[in-house]
Amino acid sequence: MTQLEQTLIAGLSMWALSQDGFPQTKPDDSTEIREAVVESVERLNRPACSSLLGANARDILISARFVVISFGKPKLGSDGKFKVISASVDGDRNTIIINSEGPFMDPRLTVNGVRFNLGLDDHRFRALILLHELGHLTGKFQHDGADPELSRTYSNSVREACFL
Ligand SMILES: [Zn+2]
Repeated sequence: MTQLEQTLIAGLSMWALSQDGFPQTKPDDSTEIREAVVESVERLNRPACSSLLGANARDILISARFVVISFGKPKLGSDGKFKVISASVDGDRNTIIINSEGPFMDPRLTVNGVRFNLGLDDHRFRALILLHELGHLTGKFQHDGADPELSRTYSNSVREACFL
C-alpha cells in the first residue's frame, strides 16, 4: 500500500467516524452520478463491455454506493507527467469514491492544454470512469492505485470494449 493510499484510507476512516455511519450519496443526489450510472448500465448491454467487466457488473453497479470527497487536484509526478485521481473504490462497502476535484466532476479539467477525457464527451467520459471503477469492484481489474500505466491500460480497454 502506498503512502497516498494510506492517507486516503485514514481520511475515509476519520470521515466515517465524524459522521453518523459511512457517508454516502445516492445516485439521485447528483445529476452527474445519476446520468453516468444510466449511461454505464446501457454500455453494459454490449457483450464486449460486460465480458470485460464481469457478468455481475450490472448488479454490482446498481447496488453500489457513491461518495464524493477530495483526493486533490492534478499533481506533477516525478516522471514529468500530470496525474490526478479520478475515483477509487472501497470494495468491502461496494462503494465508488469520486474525487470532487478530479475529472469526473470537471471533465473539462485541463493541465498544460491536455485533457484527461480520452477524447470522449463529458457524458461518456463520466461513464467510463464509473465502468473502470466497476472493474475493480467486480474483481476483473487488479489494484492500480500505485501503477498509473496499468490504470491507463484499464481505461483504454474500457474505452475500446464499451465506447468504440
Ligand atoms: Zn483503476
